[in-house]
Amino acid sequence: MLAGTNSNRMSARNESGNGENLRERIVRLIKQQGPLSIAQFMMVALHDSTAGYYATHDPFGADFVTAPEISQIFGELLGLWCAQVWEDQGRPCPVRLVELGPGRGTLMKDALRALRAVPEFLAAAEVVLVESSPALAKKQQQLLAHCLLSIRWVNDISNLKHDRPQYVIANEFLDALPIRQYVRVNKGWSERMVGTDAHGNLAFVLAPAGLPNLAVPPERGEAKAGDVYETSPSANAFVEDIARGIASSGGAALLIDYGHLGRGYADTLQAIAKNSFQDVLSSPGEIDISAHVDFGAAARIARAAGADVFGPLEQGEFLLRLGIRARAAQLTAGRAWDEPLAGVERLVSSDQMGALFKVLAILSAGARQPPGF
Ligand code: SAH
Repeated sequence: MLAGTNSNRMSARNESGNGENLRERIVRLIKQQGPLSIAQFMMVALHDSTAGYYATHDPFGADFVTAPEISQIFGELLGLWCAQVWEDQGRPCPVRLVELGPGRGTLMKDALRALRAVPEFLAAAEVVLVESSPALAKKQQQLLAHCLLSIRWVNDISNLKHDRPQYVIANEFLDALPIRQYVRVNKGWSERMVGTDAHGNLAFVLAPAGLPNLAVPPERGEAKAGDVYETSPSANAFVEDIARGIASSGGAALLIDYGHLGRGYADTLQAIAKNSFQDVLSSPGEIDISAHVDFGAAARIARAAGADVFGPLEQGEFLLRLGIRARAAQLTAGRAWDEPLAGVERLVSSDQMGALFKVLAILSAGARQPPGF
């Protein structure tokens, strides 16, 4: 979810039955119960079943563009990556091909098309899409209706048992999960929360009670007053669940997102609409809210769960090693059509998505180095 830097506020239009919009509902909730953690605010703003962003919007294209929507080669390469790792692991059967947060379903459509070249993998695999938004699940079903495979949808990863090797793809999924922030104050840390200001507008506030013993990983370094420690309990729980499954039953996961290596302190909470950055608190339900992914934490958690980790590696480097340029040349050969080339540059060049986005692979302990790493 990349955007420019102009910030124009949007008006909240997503009204509930009693004429109250989502922002007003959140303000009332805060009046009744006190400030919300940023994670609670994100849950309501993104996932409220009637007025949340994912329930009411098809963000792709209108608000932001993701890699599979930029180039068909992205999904093709990730699908073939799974098949190659499956080969390296001795072609286990049966297996499961899983995508977390599939958006419009484009990545899986491109992956399954490329995987027709490896029919043995498709024959061994059950395909499962994990999607919490009923509106997006419907879109995915429409897009994938013409695939001859049977595909299953679940709304929560806990519906997937660790009963076979799973090949898991998650692109721009972890960034959408709720985060909590803690600000360094004199006596320790204080949680940054969403409350209201003197005019009744949503505003960031600090929790009155400080936390003396917050477990900040040592890689972050020494914190000074005002530093922000960000953590996503939800993203950490997803990574742990996936890694445990891989450690016990085999398979692999490929996590791709904009993110950092978990050193230092930064406030990365951001909101985007119509391809430009917005004030995070301006219009809940109308704008996408996300945060950069802490790949340092993801790698540490996956290792602690008993899995091996490769990367994080920059997306540009990863896609180039997998042969994205050769595939683009193949697609454009003999045609006056250079769209694939422009899309590829956007994905790989370091001043666009190539360096900001990172790739982390999780495999079972002792696994052979996967392609691209
Ligand atoms: N992977 C897609 C879309 C990324 S947007 C792409 O690359 O284009 C994030 C996606 O994750 C959306 O489909 C959203 O509905 C879904 N999502 C967010 N939180 C989720 C959760 N807790 N469980 C399952 N899906 C979730």
